[in-house]
Amino acid sequence: MKTSEKIYQENSYITELEAEVISCIKKDDCYEAILDRTIFYPHMSGGQPKDEGTINGIDVFNVQERGDDIVHMLNDEISGKVKLNINFGKRFDYMQQHTGQHILSYSFSHLFGGNTVGFHMSDNYTTIDLDITLTEEMTEQAEQLCNKIIYDNKVVSAKNYSYEEAMKLDLRKDPLKLDVLRIIEIQDCDFSACGGTHVRNTGELGIIKVTKTEKYKQGTRVEFLCGTRALNDYIIKNRNVSALSSLLTCRSDMLMDNFEKIINENKQLKKDVNNMNNSLNEYKARELKSGAMVHEGVKYIFTASDEDVKDLRYICSKITEDEDYVAVMVSEAEDGCSLVIGQSKNLKINIKDVFEKCRAFINGKGGGNNFLLQCTGDKSKGAQCLETAKDILLK
Ligand SMILES: [Zn+2]
Repeated sequence: MKTSEKIYQENSYITELEAEVISCIKKDDCYEAILDRTIFYPHMSGGQPKDEGTINGIDVFNVQERGDDIVHMLNDEISGKVKLNINFGKRFDYMQQHTGQHILSYSFSHLFGGNTVGFHMSDNYTTIDLDITLTEEMTEQAEQLCNKIIYDNKVVSAKNYSYEEAMKLDLRKDPLKLDVLRIIEIQDCDFSACGGTHVRNTGELGIIKVTKTEKYKQGTRVEFLCGTRALNDYIIKNRNVSALSSLLTCRSDMLMDNFEKIINENKQLKKDVNNMNNSLNEYKARELKSGAMVHEGVKYIFTASDEDVKDLRYICSKITEDEDYVAVMVSEAEDGCSLVIGQSKNLKINIKDVFEKCRAFINGKGGGNNFLLQCTGDKSKGAQCLETAKDILLK
């Protein structure tokens, strides 16, 4: 049976083609067409995404490789002689990333003996997985070699070999044991078996830039950009750096120093504010203690304020550091109320009972032990809380 001739493997630059429909079968709510030849690259074959395009103006929404066939999925039926068009912008982008992958994998292998054990290409980023760990210097060295190969404008060619012939070449990676192997050669550098689409000369890549490396399994995942993607990334990063430079009114090479300075200043400011806040709260605790109400030998404090619950808790803990104190503290905001009740360690008053009764008023969420309890609720009923606490504790 006749199968599709893969024109994209013979020439990756063909964007228009006439072909003959071999079969077009309705399956569920779409049509699956096989042609005598095609320029549509099948989805995720060898890690490369499918081409976008049309057949007779009808959108090809998926392309799959099934055995030797390339299956085109469309929403309408096609027959006879048809005209194929692919989105070359997208295809060329994949060609740049894919060729870049060969060069990058070669560089890591050539310089450090690292093997590429995984490859993934998407619309936004491309990654390879290496079986070695990388330092920043190693990554930069590999980038330098990659870009040297680009400047040298090496020829990239594809040729079919029998398995035996292919094994005589210096292949970077052991290929599958197939009768015929398509070998991609990057002049003077690299031989590797691949069915993808590539550029003709390495100069067409413009640049290869590693954007991220991270530990992955026992090795490293390397994210990189080639060609137009790298340029677009540079445009965005340059825009961000320029905006940050003008925000900090400094040259871009001073950004790191200035950011470190700001981060350190910020840490110190937070520390200072925290210290000042604690001093203020200690002062408030002393003030409240001096106005405590004495009942049967116990010093009671009932107070309403606008502190946040963290400050209330701190003030309460400062008050109850000394013996014989019970503090009932509320703070009210527009949309709710916080309550903190505490007692000195030498007392055994059942403040949990008081807490539960007050908590119900404000619909409070929280808890604690019999020396310090706190809750925050969505009802503004601070005055009722204090009255209830007084009624129970001072009876
Ligand atoms: Zn390839």
